[in-house]
Amino acid sequence: MSLADRLQRRAQQRALTDEVRTRRLHGARTGMHSPCDGRTLLNFSSNDYLGFAQHPAVVKAFQDAAETYGVGSAGSALVSGYFAPHQNLERTAAELFGYEACLYTGSGYLANTAILQTLLGARSHCVQDKRNHACLIDGALHSGARVTRFPHRDMAAAEALCAKAETDNLFLVSDGVFSMDGDCADLNALSRMAEHHNATLMIDDAHGVGVCGSSGLGSVQAAGLSAAEVPLLVVPCGKALGGQGALILSNKAVIEELLQSARPYLFSTAPAPAMAAAISTALQLLQQAPEHHARLRHNIAHFVRAAAQAGLPLLPSNTAIQPLMAGSNARALYWSKALSNRGIWLSAIRPPTVPQGQARLRITLSACHQLEDIEHLLAALADVLGDPHAPA
Ligand SMILES: *Cc1c(COP(=O)(O)O)cnc(C)c1O
Repeated sequence: MSLADRLQRRAQQRALTDEVRTRRLHGARTGMHSPCDGRTLLNFSSNDYLGFAQHPAVVKAFQDAAETYGVGSAGSALVSGYFAPHQNLERTAAELFGYEACLYTGSGYLANTAILQTLLGARSHCVQDKRNHACLIDGALHSGARVTRFPHRDMAAAEALCAKAETDNLFLVSDGVFSMDGDCADLNALSRMAEHHNATLMIDDAHGVGVCGSSGLGSVQAAGLSAAEVPLLVVPCGKALGGQGALILSNKAVIEELLQSARPYLFSTAPAPAMAAAISTALQLLQQAPEHHARLRHNIAHFVRAAAQAGLPLLPSNTAIQPLMAGSNARALYWSKALSNRGIWLSAIRPPTVPQGQARLRITLSACHQLEDIEHLLAALADVLGDPHAPA
């Protein structure tokens, strides 16, 4: 079959199963209000949990650094792309999260594949939660290590996989907060398990930082664990920190090894110095302006309480991610469209991002939402979920 024929077949297959994805064009947004198709939609699909992507101080830090350093870094970090804002960010982040060292990379996807491909090898074994982010799975699969996965949050199954692993390089890897379910890994159990099996515990806290923990430092803080107990922490910066890139936090030996030999780091242009400056400012805000975190927590509590009263089919979650289960792709798409007609932007999440038959609307809350925005959402959801014309 020719490539053209093969592609046509795949496109037809996607259409048949309601799996076609489209990009909606959004205009310049103000807070969670987003111009789209000639209207303004209230956005409940953004990962900008604290509103830092548009915070004046973060924008100003970005602008000032771009003025000074230009836009692009114009090189990989080891050749000529490493500037003062990168170094400053790495030092600030290491100190804030309590780690010896930090490496700032171009994306979370890159960070996870870099770590796993570099630190795992043919005689290694990597145990992961089945709902881990795609890049943790991809990174491990490409590393040559043996990869086994346990059912979501099943600690007994995880324990059994660790016990069976015959290697002196065992990695236990999990999201801190699961990106499509909004629930949290049991970091205390994972940490005890790692210690018992002499495994390296690696946590990706993309949706925990800025959301969980007493001062918003994430899942590790919420679990009361230290850098010794979670020796590898990845903080993607595209969510609550409002920018791009990812911070890899670990001990000096691990960071040095990645710096020397992680191919995705070595052979990729360093992120913009201006972005590093923006992320440093976001971290500063996290510490010095706790009202953003407090407002997010307040919005989450308010939504969870009201949604429970209204009997909405939410998965249990106390994070910014609140999944509303639809089941079929067709129903998720129908609900999403009906909400958009009511001025609300909530994209339908379908396989392969979630398992078959578990399509959903992934509601995300932000410190930028006003209480009346949440009321508007709840009223629209009551309306749409009661629609008898929705497909099964
Ligand atoms: C978004 C995300 C990533 C990827 O980060 P990018 O910077 O977008 O590449 C990795 N892990 C998790 C859990 C994520 O949610």
